[in-house]
Amino acid sequence: MPGAAETFAATMTSVRPNRALRLQSALDRDGATCVWCARTFDVLVRPTTDHLVPRVKGGPSWAENELAACRRCNRERGHSTPAEWLEECRRRGWHPDLPRVLRALEALELAVAERGGQRRARPYIRSQLRRLRGR
Ligand SMILES: [Zn+2]
Repeated sequence: MPGAAETFAATMTSVRPNRALRLQSALDRDGATCVWCARTFDVLVRPTTDHLVPRVKGGPSWAENELAACRRCNRERGHSTPAEWLEECRRRGWHPDLPRVLRALEALELAVAERGGQRRARPYIRSQLRRLRGR
């Protein structure tokens, strides 16, 4: 019979899978390309976890807030908003995946509504959806 620590670890793993597992599920869900520059991931273009609503803006570490982006895009995006960075990607001649960004924001809005909390992230999500719809 497992001890309390093992039971707790198993519960946390199922409720809050660690970042590597969440990144893998993002890749399974969206395909192995960077959401911003559309490059296919390989040994040189490594996937990272990009928080759609940055954590400094109150974005949660939930699967709904995480998309796979290459290291370069993740770093260069910094704390700019998805709408700002999407414009910058287009200016550079890249092909950012707008439908993927919208799907994630909509899933995140729903998750926040269901789970509650995330007060700082709510207006950010709403304004990003408003700005990105119709682009
Ligand atoms: Zn990229």
